[in-house]
Amino acid sequence: MKFSLTILGVNSAIPANGRVPTSQILQVQSEKFLIDCGEGCQIRMDQYGIGRSYINQIFLSHLHGDHLFGLPGLLYSFSLNRRKQALHLYAPQSELLRQMLLNLLSAQGELGFELVFHDAAASPGNVRLVFENELLSVHSFPLVHRVPTVGYLFREKQRPRNIIPEKISEYGLTVEQILEAKSGEQVRLPDGRALDPEELTLPPPEPRSYAYASDTMYSEDIVPVVAGVDLLYHEATFAHDLADYAAETMHSTARQAAEIALKARVKKLILGHYSSRYKELAPLLSEAKEVFPNTVLGEEGRVYEVPFRSARK
Ligand SMILES: [Zn+2]
Ligand SMILES: [Zn+2]
Repeated sequence: MKFSLTILGVNSAIPANGRVPTSQILQVQSEKFLIDCGEGCQIRMDQYGIGRSYINQIFLSHLHGDHLFGLPGLLYSFSLNRRKQALHLYAPQSELLRQMLLNLLSAQGELGFELVFHDAAASPGNVRLVFENELLSVHSFPLVHRVPTVGYLFREKQRPRNIIPEKISEYGLTVEQILEAKSGEQVRLPDGRALDPEELTLPPPEPRSYAYASDTMYSEDIVPVVAGVDLLYHEATFAHDLADYAAETMHSTARQAAEIALKARVKKLILGHYSSRYKELAPLLSEAKEVFPNTVLGEEGRVYEVPFRSARK
C-alpha cells in the first residue's frame, strides 16, 4: 500500500531559482492529502502528472501567502471541473481563512461544492486530532512562528495481524476464526484445542508516519511529538551562519532542523522552505548531514516513498 510524499513546492516566500513556494502531497493508498498550497501548486501537479481527483483534505500550516496563495486557483479549478464532493480545509485561524476565501471567490459565483473549515489551532503542549479515517490519523501540533502555525503528524493505524494461508486449510478455519486470530485472539477448534494467534498469523507491518514542520523557529517542544517518525520534513530556511536572523524572523537553519531530527530519532529528515538567497542548496545539506547523516534535500518533483517495515516481535 502506498505511503509516499511528493514535494510540489519547496521555496520560502517567493518563486525563485526555479523553485516555487511550499506545497506537498502525501498519498496514502489512493487518497491524496494536500499539505499547504503555495503559488505554483497546480502548475507542479500538472508537470508531475498528479490529478486533482482524490484530494478531499487540505492541511494548511498557517495563513502566510507562501503556503496559501495557490489555494484560490485550485478551488476555481475544482469548480470548473464540476466538483460536487465537499472539500475539507484544516488550518489555524480557520474562520479568518473562511472569510478570506469566500470574499475572494464571491465574484466567481457559486463554487458548486461545499467547503468545510476545520480549526486545527494547537496551543503549546497540545497535540490535537484533526482528522482520521480507517487508514490513518492526522494530529496538528504547535509551531513557533510569527502568526498562529501548526505542523501535522500523519500516522497509519495499526493493521490487524496477517493470517498464514496454509493454516486455514491445516485447521479448517472458518471466517470468524480467521478474524479472531487476525485481531490477536485465541482460536478454539471443535475438538477443544486452543490455538494462539501467533501460531496462525504473522505480525502486521509497523504503522508508517510523516511529520511536517514548516514554518517554525527552533523549538525542542516538537521533539516528543515527532519522535521516531519515518519521515520528518523540517524547514531549513537559512544556513547556520544566519542563525540570529533565522531566530529574528522565526525560522530555522538547516543545522537546527538536523538537531531536531537527531533528538527525535527520526528515520529520515527532509529539508525545505529554502530562502531565495540560496541558488545552490548543497551547503544547507552538508551542514545538516554533519549533525544528522540521513538528511536529504527536499526537491520539487521528488517522491519520498516509505516502505513497509516488519514489525518488531
Ligand atoms: Zn513560509
Ligand atoms: Zn510563514
